[in-house]
Amino acid sequence: MDDVTAILDHMNPAQREAVSAPQGNLLVLAGAGSGKTRVLVHRIAWLMQAEGLSPYALLAVTFTNKAAREMRTRLEALLGISLRNVWVGTFHSIAHRLLRTHWQDARLPQHFQIIDSDDQLRLVKRLLKDHRVDDERFPPRQVQSFISGCKEEGLRPHQVDAHGDAYMAQMVELYERYQLTCERGGLVDFGELLLRSLELLRDNPALLAHYRERFGHVLVDEFQDTNTLQYAWLKLLTGMSTPMTVVGDDDQSIYGWRGARIENIRRFEQEFPGTKTVRLEQNYRSTSAILDAANALIRHNSERMGKELWTAGHRGEPISVYAGFNDLDEARFIVDTLREKVEEGVNRREMAILYRSNAQSRVLEETLIRQGVPYRIYGGQRFYERLEIKNALAYLRLLLNRDDDASLERVINVPARGIGTRTVEVLRTRARQTEVSLWQSLHDALLDASLKGRAATAVRAFADLIERLDNDTAGLALHEIIDHVITTSGLIEHHRSEKGEKGQARVENLEELVTAAKAFTQGESFEPPEAGEGGAALEAFLSEAALNAGDHEADEFEDCVQLMTLHSAKGLEFPVVFIAGVEEGLFPHKMSMEEPGRLEEERRLCYVGLTRAMRKLYLTHAELRRLHGKETFQRPSRFLRELPEEYLEEVRLRGQISRPVTTRPSAGLSRQTSVDGGGELPSLSLGQRVNHPVFGEGVILNAEGEGERARVQVSFEGEGDKWLVLGFAKLTPL
Ligand code: ATP
Ligand code: MG
Repeated sequence: MDDVTAILDHMNPAQREAVSAPQGNLLVLAGAGSGKTRVLVHRIAWLMQAEGLSPYALLAVTFTNKAAREMRTRLEALLGISLRNVWVGTFHSIAHRLLRTHWQDARLPQHFQIIDSDDQLRLVKRLLKDHRVDDERFPPRQVQSFISGCKEEGLRPHQVDAHGDAYMAQMVELYERYQLTCERGGLVDFGELLLRSLELLRDNPALLAHYRERFGHVLVDEFQDTNTLQYAWLKLLTGMSTPMTVVGDDDQSIYGWRGARIENIRRFEQEFPGTKTVRLEQNYRSTSAILDAANALIRHNSERMGKELWTAGHRGEPISVYAGFNDLDEARFIVDTLREKVEEGVNRREMAILYRSNAQSRVLEETLIRQGVPYRIYGGQRFYERLEIKNALAYLRLLLNRDDDASLERVINVPARGIGTRTVEVLRTRARQTEVSLWQSLHDALLDASLKGRAATAVRAFADLIERLDNDTAGLALHEIIDHVITTSGLIEHHRSEKGEKGQARVENLEELVTAAKAFTQGESFEPPEAGEGGAALEAFLSEAALNAGDHEADEFEDCVQLMTLHSAKGLEFPVVFIAGVEEGLFPHKMSMEEPGRLEEERRLCYVGLTRAMRKLYLTHAELRRLHGKETFQRPSRFLRELPEEYLEEVRLRGQISRPVTTRPSAGLSRQTSVDGGGELPSLSLGQRVNHPVFGEGVILNAEGEGERARVQVSFEGEGDKWLVLGFAKLTPL
């Protein structure tokens, strides 16, 4: 009994109520840092110890693999026992586990492979080309998101109604062909993992009954970000009778663009019988300056379920705002500050740099590297997304499954072995006509001599290489297989002969892959392979690589600054947080600025970002930024203006602190670059406010040309950005 009450130690009354609620449906609805995840972990412990549930009877769904690992570790610490067998994982990893176990019932080949969104895009591009579909009318990314969107809604091609619309009909046809290609190659994309496992359970009543019986309680973290399919999956699995505990925060729903439905929280209360709702209102994470600023920001959203959040903590330091001259200056400020903090005794791993778009990381990374600050990119597209790693993985995948067209195409001529695009085209056409995989068509073409001369020799050499790699690696340990493959395939040599640091980095990455494989077999990862060597381990490793793309954990214990997108920071906390690029068009992202719904989602993302910080928060923006190869003048984000001034302080160069941030955009008022109209034209500078007789007031963002023909880009309130010829525009400086 002692153990049982220990689970409730250090919890406030509302948390205790949630942890020890009788078995039944439970919804914990609460703001950031109020202990939702902690409650979930303690509830699992409670269910085991007080309610006597076996570890096998529990299923816990987290949002990232990292969160799953953390949950397992926290539970083991709480209970003092090993919990290898508890099903804790992301929707994807749990679905994957089901499909691996029941591959036959799921109508999948035993060695099916997971493809990530990058592979998916390649596949789509190839389809468009093969079927001569105009990729301007049907941009590959749009086709890809159409397919993913359908899957997230649980729709197979024949279930999508094109309503007689030719455009839609083409989309559906592409979806169908895409699906066929996947089926033929034994490829499963992320959406498919879930949809397939839902169908598996739905179509196999005995199996469904087995799992319904097995799971005595299902728990879900970050419930606000479940999509339609995940919700349906939970409903099916629990049969609405297995009790569920779900925790979430409607203000932190940030995956609407990927099909997540905040309504699922509201629906849960209505659809799941007898749901008890507990609200947590005390925040234990942040200082009151940070929390109150975050609360003030999120109040600008209209569609909220409404929650209160307070902290007993002290006010702490104000939020520092830094306006960089450009993105390099911004990065320099961040890295200088980080280094000062390290000197003050803060661990690097206690500090995180968050940003809206992945592309922002490059400048930050370069500055960190130049200054010798170790860092780690978490959850982004780092390690497993890199070209050389993907090439290596493609070879490995071919060893397991020759019919994996995407992988074959990726490496058939990498490193270059004289197989040109024309040859590949011949193979592709043939594969399409005879409805076989590329590997098969390659052999057919060799047999009936439709490939001749040098092309035939080169193709034969490639096929032999794959067979030889397969033979030579039989019986080797996983890391030895990988080592052998990257050497014998010529990949290492290929990059070694590349000039400059890039080639060197690629070689190092390939070597790192061998290290990662070693760590993997030693069980340092989420789901260690059951069989220690050979094919089974390789298969498990490849799945893990696809599922984990980017969150490679080999250096988890190294003291590194953490870099990540705001999206992947969800659920995490750090003593010191920097949010970079707090600028209009970047954050809120320009794609979301026109639609009120999307703008609210951006604001929630900002709320998520602010509430990651425990002690100290820095918000930075740059006045000039190079984006997509173009330099543009940036305005500070509206989110900065939505934060009450009393919590902010502006950082002047070299850490000097001056007046509080004003609500007026400070951008560029003192910029040197001037646009001299000459003659009677007004002399204007970038960042200056101007008036236009028709469009009203605006700010100058950009300028080009000289004299009469000089053009300026002005951002008008309500009218958007416009380029105007200075000689005609009648702009008056304000
Ligand atoms: P998010 O919405 O960001 O996911 P959350 O609601 O899941 O946040 P947790 O991560 O569980 O919040 O908790 C936030 C922090 O507060 C953690 O460091 C946690 O250990 C701490 N905490 C939670 N409850 C208590 C408590 N009763 N006493 C002391 N610390 C607590
Ligand atoms: Mg949490």
